[in-house]
Amino acid sequence: MRIDVFTVFPSLIDDFAAESLIGKAQKNDLLEINAHDLRAEATGAHRSVDDAPFGGGAGMVLMPEPIFAAVEAVDPPRPLLLMSPSGRRFDQDMAVELAEGDGFSLLCGRYEGVDERIATELCDGAVSIGDYVLSGGEVAALVIIEAVGRLVPGVMGNDNSAGDESFMTGLLEYPHYTRPKDFRGMAVPDVLRSGDHGKVERWRRAQALARTIERRPDLIETRGGLSDADHKLLAEFDLD
Ligand code: SAH
Repeated sequence: MRIDVFTVFPSLIDDFAAESLIGKAQKNDLLEINAHDLRAEATGAHRSVDDAPFGGGAGMVLMPEPIFAAVEAVDPPRPLLLMSPSGRRFDQDMAVELAEGDGFSLLCGRYEGVDERIATELCDGAVSIGDYVLSGGEVAALVIIEAVGRLVPGVMGNDNSAGDESFMTGLLEYPHYTRPKDFRGMAVPDVLRSGDHGKVERWRRAQALARTIERRPDLIETRGGLSDADHKLLAEFDLD
């Protein structure tokens, strides 16, 4: 999987991508992250990439010439997605979609954003990481790199560990516990130490359901409400 990122701060991407799971995946040739400087093809003494908006108003806008030139010089993997608050809302489903391909590219805006011709003619789509405004697309791009990267086969040590996490099943994840079994009077649930794997499995599913009902009723709505089996499971653990 190859992911190219276009930004005025390539070192933000390179530094992050060198560490932890993503860094290891790059060393193991499972993932290749290439950060490109949007100023690479900029001309003029200041190699500036932004200019004032036509029509007036605050802030600066990334100009088409240097941005088109920077992307065309690389011919990066497609789709090329513009980071933008107006884009498709990024979620786990989109992470799975992107992880199924061989690669994609991300273009990070700055200032007020990009000239609209960059959005419509150079990029293949736009993506937002949520309903708030950042100062630049770099952190958003890193969110996408991390969420997609860990889904690439082999990147996580245990391939199963990505499969039963929050959102993959349409539910939030169940709670985890580790040693000690009693910490300051707070005990680990007995069922987890019972050795009854079937019961542990059912308890986890019941916990995931109960937690999702309480914290994210919209996710329950999306999966079409609760089934009879769900109700039975909740009742088994007194969670109904
Ligand atoms: N004027 C724009 C915001 C510009 S913020 C607007 O009102 O929509 C500067 C840059 O940060 C954007 O071009 C985009 O690349 C990035 N950015 C800001 N918020 C983002 C978000 N929620 N998701 C993805 N990228 C974002």
